[in-house]
Parts: sequence; C-alpha cells; structure tokens
Amino acid sequence: MTELTPDRLRHDTLLLVPDVTLTPDGPLDGHAVVVRDGVFRDVGPVERVVRTHPSLTPLPLSGHVLMPGFVDAHHHLTQSFGGALAFGEPSEIFRRVWVPLERALDEESAYVAAKLAVLESLRGGFTTVAESGTRARVDVDVLASAARDAGIRCVLGLVCNDAADGTGEDADSRAVLAAAERHLARYGDDDLVHPSLAVSVPEAATGPTLAATARLAAAAGAVVQIHVNEHLVAVERSLVRYGMRPLEYVHRVGALGPQLLAAHATLLTPAEVTLLADTGAAVSYNPVASAWKGNAVAPATAFAERGIRFGLGTDGTRGDGFRLADAAESAQRLTYGLAGGDSSCGAGWTWLERAGAGGADAVGLGRLTGRVAVGHAADFLLVDVSGPEMQPSWDLPWELVRRGNRDQLTAVFVAGRLRLWHGWPPDWDGPALVRRAAKLARRVVGRAEVTRAHPTSVRAWREAGSTRPAHPAPVTAEPGPAAAEATRAAPPEAEAETTAEATAETETPAAATASAGHPAPRPTAPPAPAPAPAGATASTPGLASTPAGSAGGSA
Ligand SMILES: [Zn+2]
Repeated sequence: MTELTPDRLRHDTLLLVPDVTLTPDGPLDGHAVVVRDGVFRDVGPVERVVRTHPSLTPLPLSGHVLMPGFVDAHHHLTQSFGGALAFGEPSEIFRRVWVPLERALDEESAYVAAKLAVLESLRGGFTTVAESGTRARVDVDVLASAARDAGIRCVLGLVCNDAADGTGEDADSRAVLAAAERHLARYGDDDLVHPSLAVSVPEAATGPTLAATARLAAAAGAVVQIHVNEHLVAVERSLVRYGMRPLEYVHRVGALGPQLLAAHATLLTPAEVTLLADTGAAVSYNPVASAWKGNAVAPATAFAERGIRFGLGTDGTRGDGFRLADAAESAQRLTYGLAGGDSSCGAGWTWLERAGAGGADAVGLGRLTGRVAVGHAADFLLVDVSGPEMQPSWDLPWELVRRGNRDQLTAVFVAGRLRLWHGWPPDWDGPALVRRAAKLARRVVGRAEVTRAHPTSVRAWREAGSTRPAHPAPVTAEPGPAAAEATRAAPPEAEAETTAEATAETETPAAATASAGHPAPRPTAPPAPAPAPAGATASTPGLASTPAGSAGGSA
C-alpha cells in the first residue's frame, strides 16, 4: 500500500477504506467510511461508497481496523499528579489523598494536570472522558480548555455539593444551584465540551439539592455524576445516617433516573440492582478501581442481562482503553464467572461495546458518539492488527479485548480531526507537556497535605527488611546510589525538580516496583542502581505517612 502518513489523514473530508470496520452490527470487511466536518457522513460497502463520492480519493488502510474510540465513563482529570501516591492505600483515598491534592492546585497546575490526564487518555484510545467533578478551587473552564486544547471530548462535571462530607464546608444551596444552571448553559455551542453536574457522594449534598440537580440535568439533557455504593464504610455510614443504603437514599430523594450516572455501584443488593433497572439510571463500571482500592466488583454481567445501562470507567487509575476492557472481562470472570461456571462471561463483544457505545450512552452522549454510524461524531481509532498478537483473526472483539494494546494505535481521531499519530499529537508538543507536568507535580504535592496510611513501597520494603532475619547473602554488590538517594531527607524544591526531571526521562527498575504500599517480598538481589522515582521515596515533600500495617478505615 502507499505509505500512510499523518498528512494524508489531515483533511476535513476523508474516504477511508480499512480492512475491517467495527460497526454497531459487529466487524465488517469490505466497508468504507466518509468523514466530513467531524461527522461520519457515509458508512457502507466500499464499492457503493466510492461510487457515491466520486470526488473523493479512497485512502486504503491496509492492516487496520477502524473502530469507535473508547469512552471513559468516570475520570478525575485533576488527580493526575497523584499517580502512585494512592497505590496500595485503603478505601476512601479521596479524603486523604485526592481532595488535599486537588485543593493544592492553582489555575496553571490544574490546567497542566488535566491536559496530562487527557493526553494519557488519548494515548490509550479514549476519545471521550467524563470528568466527574474537580475539588480544585478553580473555574472548571480551566479543565474545558485543557480538554479542548488536547482535542478530546469531555463531559465536564461541576461539583454541586452543599453539605459537609468531611472534606469541605457547607455551601449555600441557592448559590450551588445557580452555578449549576449557569454551567449547564455555558457550553451550548462547544464541539468538544458537554456540561454535566456532579455530587461527590450522596451525603455531600442535601436531599433537596440532589433532587434539584436531577431536574436541572434532565431538562438540559445532561447527566449527574455521583459516586455510590463503592466502599463498605460509605454504605454503613448511609445506613446509620439515613436508615437506607446510598442508592436507596438517592432514589428516596427523587434523584435516581436516566440522568444519573452512578460511579462504581459495586456493593449492591438485588433490590438495588432492580432499582437501577427500573429507573433507567446508568452505571460506570470501574474494574481497575475495584482492583486497586475497592471492596467489591460491580455485577456488570448481570447488569447486561438485566438491561441496565453501563459503560466502563477508569476512575483515573490508568488511561488505557484496551487494558480497561480486558480488566472489565477479567474482573467479571474472577468474581462471578468462575463461581457460576460461566466460561463465556459476556464474551468479547459485551466488553468492547460497553467500552464504546455503552459508555457514550451512560455519559449522555449516545446519540453523538461511540459508534461508527452515519450522523455520529467521527471519534475513532485506526488500530494496526497486522502483528502476531492479532493474527490469525477468528473473533475480532475477543482479540481486541484480550490482546489489544495501545501500541497498536496508529491514529486517534476526535470530531474528525487527527489528534494522535503513533501516540503523540501531530500539532502540539506532547513530550514538553509531560516534562512540565512532572515539574509542577513536585511543587503541588509538596504543598498538599496528603496523608497515606502506608509508607511508599520502597520505604515499606526497607523497613520490613530491618525487622526480618538477615537475608541470605546477596549474590551481587551492595545497593547502589538509588537506595541511598531514597533515604535522604526532603530535598529543597530546586533539587526536587531535578529529581523529577531525571525520573521523567528514565524508566527505572525502582519505578517498576513502586506499585504497592505493602512490603514486597525481598528480591534475591538488591535493587539495581537507579534514581529514586518521584512519589516512591519517603522524602516526597509534604507527604505524611503512618507506619506500615496501621491502615484502618478512612480519615
Ligand atoms: Zn471517582
């Protein structure tokens, strides 16, 4: 084929001929699509499409699948500076890590954090993200600018909390609802930004305000995002406070309906599952969040069977659509499929469809995006399936869910425009943004009052070593300069920046191990010399931690 270059994809009108097109009816060979002014104008058999559009030159995409972009139904764009600070922590980390971190952001750092997050999302094949409401004390339009500048579609939540939830103060209900109305009217003509309301958890808003957000959003065709039934401690708090479980309470105050996007919904009684089915509410099923910090896995296979609307969300864990779909299937299999002998467990198509069209519906954009179909926004991916991981192909949805990888993404399009080419933006400096974010993150974490229940993994490993019997003689030399570096006291800011810069440019073995708060098994040899990763040392500025093993509930 003629070599595919980004220049050939940067036109307002394109006639694309991939090997396979992933349509709402499944994968189809021999199809072509026409994209004009950001929208799919035609989808059909190649011969017919080419004949219908004689002025357009068909662009063959040999070895590629054209498929809808992934939709992240639950994200926190301004938490991207935290990263591994939350790894291995017990539940309700929003109180100890996320809210302090977001409150330490100023306008510049909130913009950079959000743009870093959406760059990661685009690299992972997401063309839409639902931002579930920042606690940063900045105008949310800063996040809108970041999304627009990076070129991703964003459902932008505005927090409407008006009750104390342990992380803030009471707000005036009338002011909250007036701001909500202004927000819903603010982005009427925006191509990429779609307003939404958000309540952090049911107890963070008064009953009348929960009901009012539901009315306002429904009238505006928007969604209300809320975290519900995620952690045992929250379910029990609701039972003690209201005599009802969180989802039951949301229903009781009149806020459960098609406009509601419930994040997590992992700890559900059969009655609550029926509530979701009967009211038409949608769920963001967040399997990686369950694995990393949850108490349970949402019964998503049962959701599909019961006709409950749901998409897949990252919750800011990692912006990789293929790994999210894979985790969605794996989590169902490990928690429900194995127990019931369900070897199909929804099959590949369920999880692929929920990662795209299902998510678009859940975030309120089902008529706009999530499908390769005439009239839908041209939010799509060109996936290289010519490698050994994907060939021979017998069942493309299963292959994409279980073997697909973001390194196969040749191009990411949002609203018909090429936004990424082989992982990086063709029209702005992505690597420079990453370097800037790494510097700023050190400053922000330094001033945020983040508290961890566990030490970071490197420190935990070291502390565990000091209380254990002597290890068998190591086979190599003493730990190198990296370990020594990690034990130093908090560096001054200038030095911290140097560390961050070095870290950004060097993927170290130490960084690869900094993934769990619990003490890791000691390796048979000391860690290789490496610079200490930001956030993985006890010297992270402003980072408080309690001794290993002292984890209790939330703060
Ligand atoms: Zn969340």
